[in-house]
Amino acid sequence: MKQITIISGKGGTGKTSLTAALASKMQNTIFTDCDVDAADLYLLLTPEVKQRHTFPGGQTVQINQQKCTSCGICQSLCRFDAIQKKDDVYSIIDHHCEGCKLCMHACPESAIDMLKSESSEWYESDTRFGPMIHARLGIGEDLSGKLVSKLREQAREKAKELKADYILTDGPPGVGCPVIASITGTDLGLVITEPTMSGLSDLKRVRELAMQFNLPLKVIINKSDINPEMAKKIEEYCSEHQVEVLAHIPYDKVFLDAMIQQKTLPEFAPEHDLNKILETIHQSIITHATEKQV
Ligand code: SF4
Ligand code: SF4
Repeated sequence: MKQITIISGKGGTGKTSLTAALASKMQNTIFTDCDVDAADLYLLLTPEVKQRHTFPGGQTVQINQQKCTSCGICQSLCRFDAIQKKDDVYSIIDHHCEGCKLCMHACPESAIDMLKSESSEWYESDTRFGPMIHARLGIGEDLSGKLVSKLREQAREKAKELKADYILTDGPPGVGCPVIASITGTDLGLVITEPTMSGLSDLKRVRELAMQFNLPLKVIINKSDINPEMAKKIEEYCSEHQVEVLAHIPYDKVFLDAMIQQKTLPEFAPEHDLNKILETIHQSIITHATEKQV
């Protein structure tokens, strides 16, 4: 079984559209959405949830109104503006709270508690292309890395159980903890980039990260025709560092049109020229996996 993770230096590069388009071509594959902070692969794969699990581990801060005397000390100390006062009642703004516990230690009335949160969930689902493992991260939860690790562990178990040939993962953008969790032990990273200065610098950061994990990379330049000069610079950078540029995908509104219809590109426009490029990418994945088995 081979694991392929699709990554990008930043969000909005077309990563999810490409993962979904490849999903419709891959056989005997488990799909995983590890972009848990902005999970949207479900929009295109429309999974039917078979099993739902809570993902404990997060903590939320709560003010016990019975004990609180509204002295305001906690609010004056919180550097994250996570404590609000309304009608003389203090409460926590969950999505601002960083869980530093300063307020808890400072409260003279011991009115602030850390509670275990169970607002994140992960799912085992079926899609029209195969099983999918995905999640919903609770609001304000800072568990992305742990949740990604959980999803990958479950995907591997599912792949073992079903004797799947591949796990195809829509990875998170950037180079932070969730990305590291989504590429460790992966056989191939497909990097989607765009021909811009920031696209090139993001690619450099992703390559440096991948090198630390001995992860082979292949690059796809999306919207390659919007800035041919930058596309060339990206190619030069890749050639200098022995990274294969697998495909150039020209800008085409068809990806957006397909997404609006909740379809993948091969489903929405099976005769479109871009399908040939997709097939090249698909074949390259298969070839890479076969070579690694030899
Ligand atoms: S420090 Fe404690 S008592 Fe004072 S406002 Fe905050 S929660 Fe209430
Ligand atoms: S735990 Fe830290 S961030 Fe959260 S409300 Fe208390 S002081 Fe603010």
